[in-house]
Amino acid sequence: MTMRIVRFEQHDKSAYGIMLEDGIRRIQGSPFDDPIETVSITHRTTDVRLLAPCVPSKIVAVGVNYKSHGDEMNHKPPDEPLIFIKPATAVIGPEDSIIYPSSSKRVDYEGELGVVIKSVARYVPKARARDYILGYTCLNDVTARDLQAKDVQWTRAKSFDTFCPIGPWIETDINPFDLSLNTYLNGQVKQITRTSQMIFDVHELVSFISHIMTLLPGDIIATGTTSGIGPMQPGDTVEIKIEGIGTLRNYVVKPGI
Ligand code: MG
Repeated sequence: MTMRIVRFEQHDKSAYGIMLEDGIRRIQGSPFDDPIETVSITHRTTDVRLLAPCVPSKIVAVGVNYKSHGDEMNHKPPDEPLIFIKPATAVIGPEDSIIYPSSSKRVDYEGELGVVIKSVARYVPKARARDYILGYTCLNDVTARDLQAKDVQWTRAKSFDTFCPIGPWIETDINPFDLSLNTYLNGQVKQITRTSQMIFDVHELVSFISHIMTLLPGDIIATGTTSGIGPMQPGDTVEIKIEGIGTLRNYVVKPGI
């Protein structure tokens, strides 16, 4: 059965829940327990604030995983996944604000499919990768493009606070291999692709990364973006929409607001 796992805040307390038609059913324990247990408390969605749907220890992001994005960046398709890390402190949730850093003059959206890890994953063969995935979410790999071009390492460009919006929830049990994935800026479509265009698919990525570092429950793999990247400005609204998951919406603001 497919499920939408959310994290939410009410009266300054956060909890995990399952989004149902009539509200949110609170999860007893954690969504990484198997099976997931719920309590009979249901919250109205209007009474709570949705948070980022999990709390990762790290986000492992994949660069140049769509050929068309490689072409626009003058990058050859890599023969192995090209990975980098975004820190957990960059994570924000749905409807939260992306803060435009004063040290950058160009801040871009990158719409991506986020893979949420279910259980400790180390040396996972590709054929078993599915067992280690809790579900999928929308992710915006926000990037200070001018700083990325200036630095050899991408850490600064990719790691500002608020540069990793995720959400609005984790959708379990969808097939990740051929979903439509679109990015909208102020309602205008900017990136159009399908996840079938990935160079390295979701299972290959889980396996490859787990042979380098241990993935923990709640860790996220950002699976790369397609062509059509472009800048955002304070005042803009950015949305990542993925078939079978939903829409992640965030607002770009100046620092200090
Ligand atoms: Mg990216």
